[in-house]
Amino acid sequence: MKTALVTGGGSGIGLAVAERLKADGYHVATLDLHPSGTAFSQTADVTDRAQVDAALAAVRDRLGPVTILVNAAGMDGFKRFQDLTFAAWQRVIDVNLNGVFHCVQAVLPDMLEAGWGRIVNISSSSAQSGQQFMAHYVASKSAVNGLTKALALELGPAGITVNAVPPGFIDTPMLRKAESRELIGGTVEDHIERTPVRRVGRPEDIAAACAFLISEEAGYITGQILGVNGGRNT
Ligand code: NAP
Repeated sequence: MKTALVTGGGSGIGLAVAERLKADGYHVATLDLHPSGTAFSQTADVTDRAQVDAALAAVRDRLGPVTILVNAAGMDGFKRFQDLTFAAWQRVIDVNLNGVFHCVQAVLPDMLEAGWGRIVNISSSSAQSGQQFMAHYVASKSAVNGLTKALALELGPAGITVNAVPPGFIDTPMLRKAESRELIGGTVEDHIERTPVRRVGRPEDIAAACAFLISEEAGYITGQILGVNGGRNT
């Protein structure tokens, strides 16, 4: 049985991915600032390489080599660009981009050894559309899309696929927090009429895309950015 590690698996999209992969029969571990409650949980900060390595060691010990990685840990940020401090810019880049760097590098030896691997990076539809007052966030997620393509070329010969899923407007604690701070232009439900499929996205929508990209039958798909956004971004 293959082992999957889901970062950000303590909440929202990452939690739904962890639950879906568990239901699909994988061994699942989560790496998050918070425990997931449904999988073998490692409490760690993706920006701290020593914590990531220690978490990986514990997961390998319990569940065996990790050949599936879903990078869903992330943070948003809202600030007018001229008011954005460099520290705030750096923190968002550190979590959303450098966190992916650390987790991929930490897991890679297991995939190379197995000659098989699946990496799915959760980026953001804002990397496609741009988003005012989120320059640091958009920059970090655009970089994740670029990293995905570069790694797909580099790791394809080793049997490892690397894809990105940019979510658009998914009902999670992150989105509800932004709603409560009046940062999304009305309520979450107000966005239904601005969404072609006329509903709010669910974490399970993202989990379904991840499950497909991880499956054996998706082995010829790599370096792709698979938008899951109800048609909000085409
Ligand atoms: P969420 O509910 O806030 O889940 C993200 C999880 O990652 C939280 O448990 C969070 O902990 C954790 N996390 C944050 N920083 C971390 C760190 N340094 N190390 C380890 N874990 C960390 O948000 P979500 O909506 O599910 O977001 C999941 C991913 O989807 C994120 O990368 C987000 O940018 C992306 N995304 C979401 C949407 C959407 O509509 N929801 C749209 C586009 C992209 P804390 O709660 O303590 O921060």
